[in-house]
Amino acid sequence: MGRNRAVFLDRDGVINPLVYNLNTEEYESPHYPEDFSIYTYILKSLQLLKKHGFKVILISNQPSYAKGKTSLENIREIEKLLQEFSDENGILIDKYYYCYHHPNGIVPGYSYVCDCRKPSTKFVEQSIEEFGLNRSDCYFIGDQDTDIECGKNAGLVTVKINNKDSQKKSGKVQPDFFAKNMYDAVQRILEVLNEH
Ligand SMILES: [Mg+2]
Ligand SMILES: [Zn+2]
Repeated sequence: MGRNRAVFLDRDGVINPLVYNLNTEEYESPHYPEDFSIYTYILKSLQLLKKHGFKVILISNQPSYAKGKTSLENIREIEKLLQEFSDENGILIDKYYYCYHHPNGIVPGYSYVCDCRKPSTKFVEQSIEEFGLNRSDCYFIGDQDTDIECGKNAGLVTVKINNKDSQKKSGKVQPDFFAKNMYDAVQRILEVLNEH
C-alpha cells in the first residue's frame, strides 16, 4: 500500500530559493547555475519521504528560456545540479518533469499554449499511470497558486509553502494545509499518514 503513495514537488521556492531579478524587480527562478542553491533542510525532508515509502516526483514550470531570460544550457545545467544532489544521496527524486513553454514567450517553438504547464495536471496523470499510484495517497507541495490548483485539479492533498518571495503569485487558492517550508510540509504529510 505504502508503495503507491507519492509526493509531487514544485522546485523553485520549495527546493531552492527564488532569485531577485534586478531587471524585472521580481523574485524568479534561478537563471544561472551559480544562482542555484538547495535549502539546507531539503536533504532530511526528502530522506524522510523516502523512508516512508513515497515516490518523489518533481513538476516544474521553467519558462525563462521561452521568455528570453536565459539559455537552455543554463536551464539544463541547473537541472543537472539537482539531479546530482538527488543521485548522490541515493535517488531522492524519482522523476523530473519540466515544462519549458510559455503562452507569452518570445522564442519560437516554445511560446504557445501548451498542455503541460501547471496548473495542467498532465504530468501528474502521467506519473499516476507510470508508477501505479493511489491518487488518494498523493500530495502536492508548492509555493504558488498554480501548484495548489494543479494538485486540487488532480484530486491530491495540497500543501502550500508560505514563501515570502512568492507572495505575488499566491494566496487566491485555498490549500488543504499551509507550511512554512519543505521540512514543515513533510511534517504535515506525516501527520496525515498517522491519522489513517
Ligand atoms: Mg515555485
Ligand atoms: Zn509545457
